[in-house]
Amino acid sequence: MSRDIQRLAPEVACQIAAGEVIERPVSVIKELLDNALDAKATQIKIDVFGSGIRGIRIEDNGSGIWAEDLLLAIEPHSTSKIRTLNDLYYTPSKGFRGEALASIASVSKMSISSKPALQDHAMQLKVQSGKTSIQPVVRAQGTTIEVMDLFHNVPVRKKFLKSESIEWQAIELLVKKFSLCAPHLQISLYHEEQLILELPAASILEEHAYRIRRLWGKRFYDEAKWIDVERSGLRVWGWLGNLEDHRSQNDRLWVYLNNRIVQDKLIMHALKQVYAPLVPEGRHAQCVLYLELPFDMVDINVHPAKQEVRFEQPRLIYDFMTSSLKTIWTQSVRTDVLTSGTSQHSETIQQHLGFDLNVGKRFFLCNADFIIIHFSAQLYYLIDVVAWWNYHFQKRVSKQSFPWRSRRLAMPYLKDIPLFSHAFCENIKTKLQEFGFELDFWGDERLCIRAIPESMPQLNLNDWVKVLKPKMLLDDLSLNHLLSCCQFSAYDITENDIELIRGDLNDLDPSDTQQFARCLDSKSCRKLFK
Ligand code: ADP
Ligand code: MG
Repeated sequence: MSRDIQRLAPEVACQIAAGEVIERPVSVIKELLDNALDAKATQIKIDVFGSGIRGIRIEDNGSGIWAEDLLLAIEPHSTSKIRTLNDLYYTPSKGFRGEALASIASVSKMSISSKPALQDHAMQLKVQSGKTSIQPVVRAQGTTIEVMDLFHNVPVRKKFLKSESIEWQAIELLVKKFSLCAPHLQISLYHEEQLILELPAASILEEHAYRIRRLWGKRFYDEAKWIDVERSGLRVWGWLGNLEDHRSQNDRLWVYLNNRIVQDKLIMHALKQVYAPLVPEGRHAQCVLYLELPFDMVDINVHPAKQEVRFEQPRLIYDFMTSSLKTIWTQSVRTDVLTSGTSQHSETIQQHLGFDLNVGKRFFLCNADFIIIHFSAQLYYLIDVVAWWNYHFQKRVSKQSFPWRSRRLAMPYLKDIPLFSHAFCENIKTKLQEFGFELDFWGDERLCIRAIPESMPQLNLNDWVKVLKPKMLLDDLSLNHLLSCCQFSAYDITENDIELIRGDLNDLDPSDTQQFARCLDSKSCRKLFK
C-alpha cells in the first residue's frame, strides 16, 4: 500500500517558516537590527544594495557570536535569549524565537563574521543552499551579517515584492522608527554606498528629542508638547505634535510598547478616539509615544514578526492611554515637567519644546497625590487631590438617586480575584448594580465588569478590584467612599478642576478645608521641617 504523508525536508520546512518572518527585505533588516540591539551594540552600520533585494550588510560592535556557536545560530529554534516559555514574558530582548537567522539563511546567500571580545580572531560562516563553510577573517569585536540575493531560491516570493522604490521606502521608514527605540545607538544608513542617514548616539533626553528633529523636522520639534504620565505601574511619555499640524496619512503616530515597534489595533484605536474631536475629519495628528507596562501584562508572542501584541487587560490600557492624552489637551498649561522624575530636564525641555513655565502658573504637580495651587496674591495651598476629589464627589453624588446611570465599557474588564463566597458575590453584585455597575462572577475566581458608573469615568478598575475584600461593609456610604478613592490622581487634574477647588476653598469654613487643603503660610511650612 502506498503512503501519502511524508515529512518535509528540513530546508523546505525552513523556507515555509521563513515566509512568516521574512516577507520582504525590510523584514531582514528589522531582524538583524533587533539582533544587534540585543547584542548590546552601541554602533550599527547598515548598507543596502538594490533596495535590499541584491544585498544587505549590517555591522555592529556588540557582544559577537562564539566560533563554536556559529552553526547553531542558523539552526531553527536556536537562541541565547530564553530557556523556558515563561522567560519570554520577562525578557527585555527583542528576539527570543530563534527563527530569524535560520529563516534568512534558507532564502538567501548569507555570511556571518563575528568576534566576541575574548576570542582571538574573527570567524566567518558562509551558508548557501544548505551548504556551510567556516574560515578565519579579520574584524574587530562585533558581528557583520551579509545577506545577498534575497529569495534567489524562492522565485514565488520574489514575484510578490513591490517596486524597488517602495521596498527602499519601507527600509528607510523602519530604520527611522528603529532609531527611536534605541536612541543610545549610533546609526548610519547607506544605499548603494551613499550615506542617507547618520544619527549620533543620544544619551540624554534632549538628544533623544533632537533625534526626532532630525527625522521629522524643526517644526514638530519646536511645537511638540511633552507628556509623561505614570499611574498604577503604567507609563506613557513622549512628544505630541501641534494639533494644527495634521496630516492626510496616519504615518506619524509612532508608538513604542516597552521599547518595541508595534502596530497594535487597540493603541491605534485609542489614539483615534483621542484625536477625533481635535483634528478635522479624515486628518491625522503626529506623535512619538512610549508606553511602558509590566512585562507580564502583555503577550508579545502572538505574531512571528512580533508586531502585534495581546494585552492581559486591554480595557485598562485603552482607558489609560485615552485619559492620559486627553488630560494634556484639556489643560492649557502643563506644569508636570516640574515633577521629580523629569525635573532635571525641565529647563531644557522648556527650551527645546516651547513650554513656558512662567505663564499661567496656577498650579504645580508635586507628585501623584498632591498639588500646590496659587489661590490669590501671596496665598498658596497644598491640596491632597484624592481627598479633595473624594470630598467634591461626595457632595455631588449625595444629590444623585439610586440606581446610578451606567457607562458601558468599550471592552469588558476581566480579573482573577481571591476566592469569594457565592453569597458574597451575589450580594456585592446586587449592591454594585445600584451604583451603575454591570458585572458577573465567573465561578468564584474571575470577575467580569461590563459597565461602570457614568459619574466615574476615571475609575481605576485595577485599584478598585484590589480594595474589594470578603466581609467588607456593603453600605452605601462605605462603597461610595471606596469607589471615590480609586478614580483620581493629581495627574488627571485639569484647569476646570482648579476652578472647582478654588470654589470649594472659597465656600468653606477654613476648618473644613483641612480635609483636603492646607494653607502654605510660614507657620505650616515650618511645621513640615519639624
Ligand atoms: P533570536 O534573536 O530570536 O534569538 P536569531 O535567529 O535572530 O534568534 O539569532 C539566533 C542567535 O544568534 C541569537 O540568540 C544570538 O545569540 C545570536 N546572534 C544573532 N545575531 C547576533 C549579533 N548581531 N550579535 C551577537 N549575537 C547574535
Ligand atoms: Mg533575532
